[in-house]
Amino acid sequence: MSYDVIIIGGGATGLGVAVEAATRGYSTILFEANDFGSGTSSKSTKLVHGGIRYLENFDFALVKEGLNERATFLNSAPHIAKVQGYLVPFYGLWDKLKYFLGIKLYDFLASGKKLGSSVFLNKKQALKLAPELNPQSLRGGAVYYDGQFDDTRMLITLLRTFLQHGGQAFNYHEITGLIKNDALKVIGVRVHDKLNNNFFDIQGKVIINATGVMTDSILDLDQPETPHKNVTAARGSHIVLDKKFFDSPHALVIPKTIDDRILFVLPWHDKIVVGTTDIMVDQPCLEPDASDLEIDFILDTLNKYTRSPVKKTDILSVFSGLRPLVKPAHKTNSAKISRKHEILYSISGIISIVGGKWTIYRLMGEDTINFAISKSLLPPSKSISQNLHLFGYTKDKIAYPLNVYGSDVTVLKEIQKEMSNQDKLHPELPYYAAEVIYQVRFEMAKTVEDVLARRTRALFLNARYAMEAAITVARLMAKEMGKNEYWVEQQVEQFHAYAAKYVVVSENK
Ligand SMILES: Cc1cc2nc3c(=O)[nH]c(=O)nc-3n(C[C@H](O)[C@H](O)[C@H](O)COP(=O)(O)OP(=O)(O)OC[C@H]3O[C@@H](n4cnc5c(N)ncnc54)[C@H](O)[C@@H]3O)c2cc1C
Repeated sequence: MSYDVIIIGGGATGLGVAVEAATRGYSTILFEANDFGSGTSSKSTKLVHGGIRYLENFDFALVKEGLNERATFLNSAPHIAKVQGYLVPFYGLWDKLKYFLGIKLYDFLASGKKLGSSVFLNKKQALKLAPELNPQSLRGGAVYYDGQFDDTRMLITLLRTFLQHGGQAFNYHEITGLIKNDALKVIGVRVHDKLNNNFFDIQGKVIINATGVMTDSILDLDQPETPHKNVTAARGSHIVLDKKFFDSPHALVIPKTIDDRILFVLPWHDKIVVGTTDIMVDQPCLEPDASDLEIDFILDTLNKYTRSPVKKTDILSVFSGLRPLVKPAHKTNSAKISRKHEILYSISGIISIVGGKWTIYRLMGEDTINFAISKSLLPPSKSISQNLHLFGYTKDKIAYPLNVYGSDVTVLKEIQKEMSNQDKLHPELPYYAAEVIYQVRFEMAKTVEDVLARRTRALFLNARYAMEAAITVARLMAKEMGKNEYWVEQQVEQFHAYAAKYVVVSENK
């Protein structure tokens, strides 16, 4: 079997390319070694943004590109992404001047795609918006507007859009080798179906490497004699807390950390997410651990800006991901490395798409396919992704938490009607039994982790409750998938082992 496009990697970048290729009419197949979004794409800060921070680096073109894509992103999936107000507190006159100029420039660069007019506040107004803000030395603040989303729900929405347009996608299928012709051009891939332990080959006109921090490992398969170093990885960690610690409809932007960064405190699924850090790592991996130092740094920084002290024992979940960054020519602090994306073209014909950020996944997809066309690897076809409505698109207000299914919520409700089990997965989590069945039937959930980490966000919202819900999820899945009690036991055990790293302070400490 031969395809126009083979994509390696099912994160934001791979699925962005997949939707772009399928909607342009190319026969496209995508392979993901683990679950869709199990790499970096489930562990973002969840901002749809131009990147106000990059203004400091005078990277105006990058910010403008992000602001353009922000508008496209929000228009394509209003059921997943929304406009969010961000409050920046001021503690001195210099702060006030700096952020006034920064926010006005951010609004200016968005021009016609502004999400709302920024406003400047005195101390009293800032405290009214965010009563938990530490009032000591506070001079006032400003509110600007950016987007916010649920990263893996967006990813599943892209997956469904891709399938809807005739694409084929497989999770738990790892690329373990490349097939070359006599001219040493890559014409296909060797695939390992990890769940059934089968190997098979697939041929394609274009092979696209969208493996994030693992980009170089695919290039090493291509040319094993020369280890590649195109991508550098920077770890970012977040903690999740009860919203009582910062109960505001606005996100808080902590404008200056001791390592000269921004820290966000974001309302998300009725909790708050606080992060992130930025630490260069030597060896990329898909499941990095947050260090104690990072957790202490996030807590110490947060505690300077809020009234009620937050302790380690208050942390509901911690998650950590690696940014795939284009390796700079000169050594520099990872926060200063540009977030631009780049396309690499190997002598053997593999196209690698690296860097960038979630917000611009669509543009990265468009650029990659345009590049393949420019090299005459594909016949020309016009992009339609800019105005594409993604799967489930609706502007109707659907009550939380079912809003993420968009217009397809009707299918979920049908399943719910037929089920005798109308219960939640856990009394303290916002998810229902029917969602598990829907996720197995329509969203390619294969394991308990797929359901609790990426179809629902239970693991990110409260790691302990997610562990408690694992047995219920495993039983529901086993019934739907025809699995036995041994599978249930194994799934629960595997999920508990995996989820332990999302728990900061264990019960017996
Ligand atoms: C802490 C942090 C916060 C961030 N916050 C934001 C934010 O708020 N907003 C924003 O716009 N961006 C943000 N980003 C950036 C954004 O998350 C990333 O740019 C994006 O998720 C990268 O997606 P990706 O598909 O390139 O990589 P990944 O999501 O890692 O996907 C690569 C996939 O390739 C698969 N793979 C690897 N090897 C193989 C193989 N041999 N065969 C098959 N599959 C393979 C992996 O399993 C993985 O799933 C953040 C990043 C980090 C780390």
